[in-house]
Order: sequence, then C-alpha cells, then structure tokens
Amino acid sequence: MEKLFKKQNLLNHDMSMLTALTLHDLLVERLDIFCWCNNCGHNNVIETKEIINKLGQNYPVPKIGYKLRCGICNNTNNISTRPNWPNHNGQLTRHMS
Ligand SMILES: [Zn+2]
Repeated sequence: MEKLFKKQNLLNHDMSMLTALTLHDLLVERLDIFCWCNNCGHNNVIETKEIINKLGQNYPVPKIGYKLRCGICNNTNNISTRPNWPNHNGQLTRHMS
C-alpha cells in the first residue's frame, strides 16, 4: 500500500488536488507528464509509460519531480510535475501573453 500524504502538505500545497493522482491514473487518462525545473525554467514532457517502468504505477504524480534531474542545470530537488493536460480542455483558463 502506498503511504498517504501528510495532511499539512495537502493544506499548504497549491496542487493539493493532484496528490491523489498516481501514474496509473495518468495511464488510464492517457496523459503524459509535464515537468519543469524551478531553477532554470527548463521544461519537458515525459511519457507516463517510461516513468512507470522506473517508479511503478502507484507512484504519486507530484512526487515524480524528486526522481528527476534537469538536463540543463543538473538540479535534482526543485523540479515540479503535473499531468500534461490537453490544451483543448475547456476548463483551463486561457491567457494571452
Ligand atoms: Zn534546470
């Protein structure tokens, strides 16, 4: 069984709703993983299947970043991850730059 997240983390984290998501959920939804480096801004999309091969399908999506390393600056502890939501999802707010 996977461990539950600490309640404080849930309350303090902007992406608390995502803590329930596991790699298995992404596989079912056919979503890949968008990750970005908070250190240098580098970002990338990783195939969910690839990550499952390494971490297992019960791994929580927001924690994937702890297992990643930025290819640009070698940062390993400041990488964020989220599902790579499709752009045509009407629930996303569109903002012009
Ligand atoms: Zn970086």
